Amino acid sequence: MKKYSILIVEDDKAIRSLIQTALEAERFGVFTAYNGASAIVQARTQAPSIILLDLGLPDTDGIQVIDEIRKKSTVPIIVVSARSEDTDKIEALNHGADDYVSKPFNVEELMARIRASLRRMEFQRGMDQGAKQFKNGGLIINYDSMEVRVNGEIVHLTPIEYKILAMLAQYMGKVLTHDMIVRAIWGSARAGMDEVTNLRVFMTSLHKKLCANSKGEKYIQTHIGVGYRMIQLPNLQ
Ligand code: CA
Repeated sequence: MKKYSILIVEDDKAIRSLIQTALEAERFGVFTAYNGASAIVQARTQAPSIILLDLGLPDTDGIQVIDEIRKKSTVPIIVVSARSEDTDKIEALNHGADDYVSKPFNVEELMARIRASLRRMEFQRGMDQGAKQFKNGGLIINYDSMEVRVNGEIVHLTPIEYKILAMLAQYMGKVLTHDMIVRAIWGSARAGMDEVTNLRVFMTSLHKKLCANSKGEKYIQTHIGVGYRMIQLPNLQ
């Protein structure tokens, strides 16, 4: 199996060793950083496969760390933070984090998120950029004809529903905030209450249409107060 390396950015020693032990048990290579400055240097010099980032660091705010890393790299960043407020998660996602896990966390849950991130990274690496088709479990999107099928059955989507679905597919595995989706689909500067309500209506309809023939497969996950994500199903070819 390919060896992946993970950079843990965490100033709390107990949490850092807990994560490190769990990762090493799964044969991941591990680097650690105790503050933002060291995180930024190690992200560049060690080129980790994934970064786990605490937002509350002694020297800089985790959000600034995301900004710095994103200037040079698309490495998946999973925020692991005690900040339970939705606004912090949303800010981190808007600044380019891929996912978030709230403290206190379950180690198994964290491992599952890391594995999902790695699967998504491998999938995108292997994906032909000019691919005409997207496939995830029974869901197929044909980009040329804008045709969507679930288990062979055509799903009739409105143009906006199609755009939202195509965007979620493009960023499969990543949580897209309401702001990101509203900006991309409607071109509004920010997602206010009206836009979020509007988006929710489209999402409910999209979800219903996709589920009609999905045989229990769930493609879209709702993050209440934050946004939506397309789940990468394990049976992806
Ligand atoms: Ca901290």
